[in-house]
Amino acid sequence: MQAWPLTVDRFIDHAARWYGNHEIVSRLADGAVVRTSWAELLLQAKRVSNALLASGIKPGDRVGTLAMNSAHHLACWYGIMGIGAVCHTLNPRLSDEQLTYIINHAEDRLIFADKDFTEIVARLLPSCPAVEKVVSIDDTESWEGFTSGHSVDVVWGMFDEQAAAGLCYTSGTTGDPKGVLYSHRSNYLHTMMTIQPNAMNLGIGDVIMPVVPMFHANAWGLAFAAPAVGSKLVLPGARLDGASLYELMENEGVTVTAGVPTVWQNLLQYISEHGLQLSSLKRVLVGGAACPRNVFDDFNALGVEVVHAWGMTELSPLGTCGTMDNEISTLPRAEQMQYRVKQGRVLMGIDIRIVDDKGAELPRDGKTSGFLQVRGHSVVAAYYKKDGSVLDADGFFDTGDIATIDPRGFMRITDRAKDVIKSGGEWISSVDMENTVMSHPGIELAAVIGVPHPKWDERPLLIVKRHPGQSVTAADLQAHIARSAAKWEVPDAVLFVDHIPLTATGKLDKKHLRGQYGASWQW
Ligand code: ADP
Repeated sequence: MQAWPLTVDRFIDHAARWYGNHEIVSRLADGAVVRTSWAELLLQAKRVSNALLASGIKPGDRVGTLAMNSAHHLACWYGIMGIGAVCHTLNPRLSDEQLTYIINHAEDRLIFADKDFTEIVARLLPSCPAVEKVVSIDDTESWEGFTSGHSVDVVWGMFDEQAAAGLCYTSGTTGDPKGVLYSHRSNYLHTMMTIQPNAMNLGIGDVIMPVVPMFHANAWGLAFAAPAVGSKLVLPGARLDGASLYELMENEGVTVTAGVPTVWQNLLQYISEHGLQLSSLKRVLVGGAACPRNVFDDFNALGVEVVHAWGMTELSPLGTCGTMDNEISTLPRAEQMQYRVKQGRVLMGIDIRIVDDKGAELPRDGKTSGFLQVRGHSVVAAYYKKDGSVLDADGFFDTGDIATIDPRGFMRITDRAKDVIKSGGEWISSVDMENTVMSHPGIELAAVIGVPHPKWDERPLLIVKRHPGQSVTAADLQAHIARSAAKWEVPDAVLFVDHIPLTATGKLDKKHLRGQYGASWQW
């Protein structure tokens, strides 16, 4: 058969050649909505490639991007990857210290940045000696200055499919951030996996809007998946509040969107406050953190299906997806929900197992929980510039998550190994308790952390933020938890706060909470 290297430039070539007129819609920082097409984006990306080559960027060199989702950001991605350079997405929500570490570790030679992040760049540059140039991608002068005059004639791909395409660092909740270097092949195969009906079920008729940023694990692969299926793509930029997302979805006819739960809580609140409907949206992919029950119910009431997915940066990122089969989707809704709230089943190309602390595989009975391990074509083997494989003798990567797997294959994350609360020799799932508390109508956000205890090793401390105007008490919440949890699991203390910090990827920042409240807590 033909040698056909699996490189990601194929996606955009395909979209431009066969669906060239399909639109890419971007919301700019000033709120304006601009349009381009796959055919135009290909030309723009080729100009970026030639501009990079003229700047001395060679295959294998790292080029950073510090930008929200937009067509120019996408042109940078394909322009970088097409010539075999490595697109290193930087998360602007990280601290200066983390960003400096990451840029220096990657030795980024050039950075494409949004104007909004100019100040961040100015602060970082003096301590990032490898960076030779910064190009502002949404400043006409800077962008045109870099790209105009360059030809659209450039050869893309035709190199080894194992060559690196992208680089993304995990937030590093423990220790320094760790780099995951994606290959063209792994991204290509991951794309084939994500578009299938068992996963994101994407097709030419869809209008796809990745709310998840391109710097958060490649927008969960959607920046590759959209051109692979030739669909219209909507990129929301920096405005991720409920009103802006709602307006864009309705105006552009978005059918599929994806993002972390907190984004959807805000959108749903906006919709309910204004008594609105969603006229085109069919499916929302929710992942990055456990999807609260009300997100399922509220979207369902609007006629939108929620698909719960699990993944991580190290998996490119998709691992499992909660797509229902005929048997489950015909069950009464209450019974279906037992499956829908889980993180779903594996996709072709991914294998998972749960093991005990000695590495022995545990039963898939839906009850026994263990350390979740994974292997597959788009799973990390070693961290960037770190010696040694991260795999065990069977080729599995330890995710750091704790999970159960039921007889039908549905995996449920019960906690992160470092967040689980060890009380008197038993494990208490912080995630389960957070979900229970968040199902209380008076609560906006809840976090549970383990705090050292003289008698029980650790006890759970519940930290909550009430909805404005709500007066729910500690006793109310303890009674609410006791309805579904064992007595010894119910937290002895509840702390009411005005603000719960989130991480750079929109998850509960438990490291911060432990430092702020846990360290000085007296039982
Ligand atoms: P970071 O910690 O840098 O944000 P990732 O975005 O890669 O890294 O996060 C991966 C982790 O997020 C997983 O290991 C898991 O703990 C959590 N996670 C992802 N999806 C889900 C989900 N649907 N439910 C519960 N936890 C999830």
